[in-house]
Amino acid sequence: MQDDIVIGLEIHVQLSTKTKIFCNCSTDYIDQEPNTNTCPVCLGLPGGLPVLNKKAVELAIRTAIALNCRINSTSIFHRKNYFYPDLPKAFQISQYDLPLAEEGFMELIVGKSKKNSKIRITRAHMEEDAGKLVHIEEKGQIVDSLVDYNRSCVPLLEIVTEPDIRSSEEAIVFLQNLRSIVQYLGVCDGNLECGSMRCDANISIRDSKSHQLGTKTEVKNMNSFRAIKRALDYEICRQRKLIEDGEKVSQETRRWDEANNQTVTMRSKEEAHDYRYFPEPDLLPLKIKDSWVNEIKDSLPELPVDRKERFTRDFGLSDYDASRLVEIKSLGDYFEEAARDYKDYKKLTNWILSELLRYLGEEGTEISSSPISAESLAELLHLIDRKVISGKIAKTIFEKMFKTGQSATDLVQKSGLTQISDKEEIDIIIEKVIEDNIQSVQDYRSGKEKAVNFLVGQVMRHTKGRAQPDLVLNLLKEKMNKLEN
Ligand SMILES: [Zn+2]
Repeated sequence: MQDDIVIGLEIHVQLSTKTKIFCNCSTDYIDQEPNTNTCPVCLGLPGGLPVLNKKAVELAIRTAIALNCRINSTSIFHRKNYFYPDLPKAFQISQYDLPLAEEGFMELIVGKSKKNSKIRITRAHMEEDAGKLVHIEEKGQIVDSLVDYNRSCVPLLEIVTEPDIRSSEEAIVFLQNLRSIVQYLGVCDGNLECGSMRCDANISIRDSKSHQLGTKTEVKNMNSFRAIKRALDYEICRQRKLIEDGEKVSQETRRWDEANNQTVTMRSKEEAHDYRYFPEPDLLPLKIKDSWVNEIKDSLPELPVDRKERFTRDFGLSDYDASRLVEIKSLGDYFEEAARDYKDYKKLTNWILSELLRYLGEEGTEISSSPISAESLAELLHLIDRKVISGKIAKTIFEKMFKTGQSATDLVQKSGLTQISDKEEIDIIIEKVIEDNIQSVQDYRSGKEKAVNFLVGQVMRHTKGRAQPDLVLNLLKEKMNKLEN
């Protein structure tokens, strides 16, 4: 059967407020003593009353506007009831049939074919996070389970897409774009590994002809773009095989098992009625004035899509280069800072996207703590352009700059790696090379043009790569043409 892949995503974005969504406790839950940032409200003690954090609503609205959503002038908080040890009230305050925002979209350009897609966003609603369970293991066995409520009540924005995504690649591009957007907006650091952005995926296979939808499964527990890609690909294969074998896909929630590279059954899929939603009696309906929405709209910073357009327009970069530079905000900032000092933008981009990203990746360093500052990189590139060092030597210097944090000029002076542009010095070396390689010289003179490349190589070897190849080539040819027969 010809089939289509049908994927919808649910993404939880942690909103970067200082205090929690319904109380004044700090949202800092990483590296804190367990259960220190808590109070009766976020511990769910009797009598604790939630008070909505205005900043959280503002950040949620910022995000929803950037995702082209309609902001509802009234939205309602509901109780989503379920029992789990990390949820002290035995319900989560969330939104249900009247969410903060609805009917948005994101436009994407996907893959080498540059396919344009428009992914519709069903809704974006606010809710509180749960606490965190910590399982103590001994010899591979869980011997104790502890709970830390520091994360309880941290504000989240849940973004739900329509099932418009048609491949795992498209899902990743959507998520990368979303991460860029929340970073640019300053509403979330977008870190999947630390869980400040979390993604669940609904996957099913549809018959292309009848458009008959297949049964969907939900996959959870994916902590990186790589894990999401592999989990989606695995699940697509698994469902296709079941269908081919005439078996049924069961509706369930599955977990990505990173260690074994597969999705495994977690529980049967719950339905909305399982949660017995009802309006939260301790919170008033959330009323949002148009004037406030407009104020937030006017204060939005430049978004990745606009920045990319500006980079192609003002710096003459290709779509591809510009997309890569703007994807991570701090990388785009780095480029712009270096571009103030260095105007060969294409060359600058190449150095950032190849050398710099490679070293940062190898060391696991963020661009914001790069040992080579934007200014330093510009300085190195100027040294190449002024022919003080060759491009090849510049790569060695770059490595030293990365390891020591020293400036290019200092390192070049110390290492004596400056390029030889003194004609007389090169002349002496050329004469020696000619003497030592009579056969190649004769080959060249009898019409084998290529023989000259070998001779250039010899000169470069003698100068340890410090001569300018163009100059060497010209001098060599000049000398050989003058030789007596
Ligand atoms: Zn609290």
